[in-house]
Amino acid sequence: MLKKYKDDQEFYSLVGIKPQTFYKMLEILKIAESKQKYYGGRKNKIVIEERLLMTLEYWKDYSSYIVIAKRYNISHTSCIRNIFWIENILIKSGIFKEIIPACTSVEEKMNWNEFNSIFQTENDCLKYIAKLKIMKCIRCASSSLNTSDLRRIRCLNCNQTFSILYGTIFYKSQTQMTSWFYLLFRWINTKHGIPATDVARELGVTYKTAWRMCHEIRTRIGNQDAGFIVDGTAQMDEMYLSHLGFKKQGRSLFNKTLIVGVYEKTSHKLIVKVLKNADEKNLLRFALKHIFTECCLFTDSWKGYVSFKNFYPKHEIVNHEVGYVSPTGVNTNHIESAWKHIRRTFRTHIRVSKHNIHLYAKESAYKFNNIPSFETVILCLI
Ligand SMILES: [Zn+2]
Repeated sequence: MLKKYKDDQEFYSLVGIKPQTFYKMLEILKIAESKQKYYGGRKNKIVIEERLLMTLEYWKDYSSYIVIAKRYNISHTSCIRNIFWIENILIKSGIFKEIIPACTSVEEKMNWNEFNSIFQTENDCLKYIAKLKIMKCIRCASSSLNTSDLRRIRCLNCNQTFSILYGTIFYKSQTQMTSWFYLLFRWINTKHGIPATDVARELGVTYKTAWRMCHEIRTRIGNQDAGFIVDGTAQMDEMYLSHLGFKKQGRSLFNKTLIVGVYEKTSHKLIVKVLKNADEKNLLRFALKHIFTECCLFTDSWKGYVSFKNFYPKHEIVNHEVGYVSPTGVNTNHIESAWKHIRRTFRTHIRVSKHNIHLYAKESAYKFNNIPSFETVILCLI
């Protein structure tokens, strides 16, 4: 099977993993298959090595299932079924978390019962923050502190007193810490955002307070991916969000906001930005800021992308008038699915101010990229 590759280096550059890792995966899959076929069953059309190579190919490139199925001479449905089966087995093994794209974003989750048993009082929340925060004196940076009262920590070196919440979004907030933590729990487990009216009702605070709390979280989370640069095969596209429901369609910018985004599958990153218009200059400036010039870049045939070939030699275009996947496998389907996710977020909120649309879009992109754990979100906020 691996004879068609010259050496280990060639295998690594073409398949994306080292031969040792490949054999390790193969071993796990063979055991799983032998268990599955113990009581009989139809034999698979292609051998397990080929199936694994097919899955790796799917992870590495942007090939769609149809293109891969044709390459391996199998039907479209059996290609999907095989890739799903291999992905499932490898994710369950828990060894290849960094390699599997679907697995990198899933972190340990906390359910309601666990949350309720951990965060019962104000002090529990403060202790949790103290566990994650590097505690230093805010004046002399000394780490010899008296932490018997976390709201009033005293430096043993210079006698300065300060709160554990100094520098976090909870600092000087009148709202209880348990309410804040409940909001964070809800925020993490809601895929498309929570309206501030719901938060106000659940926490028993005013709408203004609820909106401000959500806004604080959104602002901090939105700036997480500000300096990220995509490396690999990227897809770029633009979307128009209408302020008048969905009555007005098309590219006219009357009462609409333009959102431009780039998505990379291996690192599972979606970066979005609100732009004034989708002309060549604006799109190129965004692309050069977030995408390496040696990347494979897939876009649609909008005129703003015409001059991209001068900066991105591997730029490929898919003409949507002909089809959504070109014969060579070029497509922008992943970023289209990201747009669908963002549109759903905007439907949750009845009205979004034009000045804050970029924050909502970034929050939505963050949720599209990750299923964050409680710890990760708290670390972003403190
Ligand atoms: Zn000090």
